[in-house]
Amino acid sequence: MCSRISFRAFLSASNIRCFSSNAKPQFTADRYKVERGPYAKISNEHVAFFNELLGRSRVIVDPDECESYNIDFSRIVRGKSNLVLKPKNTNEVSSVLKYCNENRLAVCPQSGNTGLVGGSVPVFDEIVLSMKLMNKIIETNELEGVLTCEAGCVLEDLENHLATVGLMMPIDLGAKGSCLIGGCVSTNAGGLRLLRYGNLHGNVMGLEAVKANGYVVDCLNTLKKNNTGYHLKHLFIGSEGTLGVVTKVAIQCPPLPKAVNVTFLGLKSFDQVLKAFRLAKKELGEILSSYEMMDKLSLDVSIQQFGLKNPLTSKSDGHEFYVLLETSGSNASHDEEKLASFVEKALSEGIVEDGTLTSDPAKIKSIWSVRERISEGILREGYVFKYDVSIPLQSFYKVIEVLRERLRDPRIIRISGYGHLGDGNIHVQVSTASYEPEVAAQLQPFIFEYISSLRGSVSAEHGVGFTKTKYLHMSRTSSEIELMYDLKKLMDPKGILNPYKVLHPLKP
Ligand SMILES: Cc1cc2nc3c(=O)[nH]c(=O)nc-3n(C[C@H](O)[C@H](O)[C@H](O)COP(=O)(O)OP(=O)(O)OC[C@H]3O[C@@H](n4cnc5c(N)ncnc54)[C@H](O)[C@@H]3O)c2cc1C
Repeated sequence: MCSRISFRAFLSASNIRCFSSNAKPQFTADRYKVERGPYAKISNEHVAFFNELLGRSRVIVDPDECESYNIDFSRIVRGKSNLVLKPKNTNEVSSVLKYCNENRLAVCPQSGNTGLVGGSVPVFDEIVLSMKLMNKIIETNELEGVLTCEAGCVLEDLENHLATVGLMMPIDLGAKGSCLIGGCVSTNAGGLRLLRYGNLHGNVMGLEAVKANGYVVDCLNTLKKNNTGYHLKHLFIGSEGTLGVVTKVAIQCPPLPKAVNVTFLGLKSFDQVLKAFRLAKKELGEILSSYEMMDKLSLDVSIQQFGLKNPLTSKSDGHEFYVLLETSGSNASHDEEKLASFVEKALSEGIVEDGTLTSDPAKIKSIWSVRERISEGILREGYVFKYDVSIPLQSFYKVIEVLRERLRDPRIIRISGYGHLGDGNIHVQVSTASYEPEVAAQLQPFIFEYISSLRGSVSAEHGVGFTKTKYLHMSRTSSEIELMYDLKKLMDPKGILNPYKVLHPLKP
């Protein structure tokens, strides 16, 4: 089955409710001992206001129905919200926020709820502002290559829409069937092709956002160049719903490549992975669109949990490392020739042990699914401590070696690493059958201190959310953090937007 369809199904509310009750995470507030901020409690009067504004069908108060909005994808956090609101347009978002601000009601914006740092679910009883119904495409400008849409469009739906006019989204990720473009923008999501198309700070041309007091900020620019005044869109890109709610996005969309080729390589050491990367950059140049690395234990997850096949079969016990390399270009025979010559060179120089190469879309899809389903598969082992971090390439894999050396705890099932090596971004996964506070204590703060000592970043692409607030200072200077607090005070003086996330709550 296609990974994207099954992923969407996996995430659906009904599936989340299928988890056995003991599989539900502990409440965030209890597990992490958080103190509730000075916010009002939701009253019948508040609910009546929202019923009047949105209609009862878009105001969810049933605790069972609210449950899936309270638990995140990785089941690391769980909130206690008893109110989910589903606005359909910017005016409704504005009215909701204006009322919440006046009544000091805390709000947690939520899109696809696929975020991996606990940012998308409430900590206490914050109102969940679900963006799912704001899913209209506003304009597709084929000439300029700019798509303008509401923030609640599913990434994969946008990709399918653009393919009909020969364009593509500049961003792609394993959660594409569920994540929404507003969620991607709010986390400055990276994904599988950042190496080629760059990040969202570059690709988002403009956006519309609503401030905490309901004021609509229109920066829905669609020009490539507009060097006038402050570039306000950047305040909302990656600010994880703490400075405003993104309601519309204009995004630059490159032409759909005419030729896509994929090679899957088996390598015996991490040094060889780096050598192959150096060779790939030299030989493939501008057509290199992805360079994904996974270690043996990561690949085993997709194989064992979903019965997927290892694309390389020459070695019965497999390879220590694997690389999925993709090229995207405009000339099929030219690209194929370039990639084949790269693979030949890598084999003849002893850099790779084995490799397979394809331009067949069905085979490409099945190779990608081996990579894309790791994240979903490891959750089936129970609980996963997951760290998405940036590390300079020379030390990239050291973190896994150091953890394996340090954590010889029998409760640990697997310590594995994979990720977007082309962007210096590794996903570290440590799985256990259930949440183990002692394992957590062995991992944190050690892992973040270690990454910081390597001059890496404690968050490469998922943001800070709830789980990394304590470690922000390890990747940002105190002067940067001070300015972040100043901005938060300016944009959201009452601190109602996504409290307990990114920055510690503002003092009352
Ligand atoms: C299998 C899998 C693979 C993934 N791969 C990648 C990857 O390769 N690269 C990557 O970067 N991430 C990846 N992620 C993480 C996640 O998918 C991204 O962070 C994604 O951008 C989140 O989008 P979402 O719609 O689910 O947002 P949510 O999870 O709902 O929200 C994320 C954050 O943004 C805030 N927010 C949401 N919508 C808005 C809005 N409209 N306005 C203001 N704030 C808002 C929320 O409050 C929260 O803090 C992956 C996740 C999974 C499960």
